[in-house]
Amino acid sequence: MIIDGKKEAELLQQKIKQEISVLKKTKSKVPSLTVILIGEYTPSLIYVKNKEKQSKDVGIKSNIIKYPKDVSEQDILNKIKDLNKDDNVSGILVQLPLPDQIDKEKIINTISPSKDVDGFNPNNVGNLASGYKSIIPCTPLGCLLLIKKIEKNLTGMHAVIIGRSNLNGKPMAQLLLRENCTVTIVHSKSKQIKSHSEKADILITAVGVPNFVKKDWVKDNAIVIDVGINKLNGKIVGDVDFEEVKKKAKAITPVPGGVGPMTIACLLKNTLECFKALST
Ligand code: NAP
Repeated sequence: MIIDGKKEAELLQQKIKQEISVLKKTKSKVPSLTVILIGEYTPSLIYVKNKEKQSKDVGIKSNIIKYPKDVSEQDILNKIKDLNKDDNVSGILVQLPLPDQIDKEKIINTISPSKDVDGFNPNNVGNLASGYKSIIPCTPLGCLLLIKKIEKNLTGMHAVIIGRSNLNGKPMAQLLLRENCTVTIVHSKSKQIKSHSEKADILITAVGVPNFVKKDWVKDNAIVIDVGINKLNGKIVGDVDFEEVKKKAKAITPVPGGVGPMTIACLLKNTLECFKALST
């Protein structure tokens, strides 16, 4: 089965739109997302434009604040502090990557945890790791929602995650632990990755290397979630050799059209959750 991430994302967005239209009847404000965009890095411009369009489609007010590439770190920190205090702002996102003069850690630490729609602030990271209520990073949340469309109860399943980034691998592991999976994470210093990968009931790859996972790395009937976005011969591909692995997997996400659309839908979901939490 090919998991249709685009369709699942549309369904989630419809639900969000519906909820916002109901909220509009009783609240004087609407959910709003402010994105800080620094420089002219083409993929960032595309992502931000996409986020703006999809926000508007569901009824989220979108505000993009653009800065030149040489903006000072202090200017960005001051802007974030203002946005933290602004009652009309439900969510704040600083588009990564950042230019060298700006310290990512300082930026992430300055965004108020209650407006941190990316879920990167250590407060949210710690709450997720402790099993408490938190804002969950969008891509792992999207992956979990897709996995649960295939298998409602993940208890006892062995999940193997390739990649240990703060963005993907680590929060994914926390989410799957919460679901009672046995979780293995492997990374660039791991030995014999194939021997781990081939035992996975759920295999998640967030590596950034095209065709990294071959057919013989995958157990029969595994659920395979490919987070990777890579360019190969002018085409966008994931980390998994899709054509071969799809013959073996119980379910697999394509790239494009798998995890990517769910990431944006989950950003909208997080913005709505922040709005609701701030307005109660
Ligand atoms: P990242 O920060 O570069 O992390 C990559 C991870 O893969 C690291 O943990 C790294 O290990 C590991 N790795 C790299 N080469 C490896 C190898 N040969 N063997 C085993 N492990 C290896 O990347 P990221 O931000 O997590 O993103 C990963 C991929 O997902 C990228 O293609 C990115 O474009 C894509 N992505 C997609 C979405 C989406 O919405 N679909 C969202 C975000 C990212 P070390 O830790 O040891 O270096």
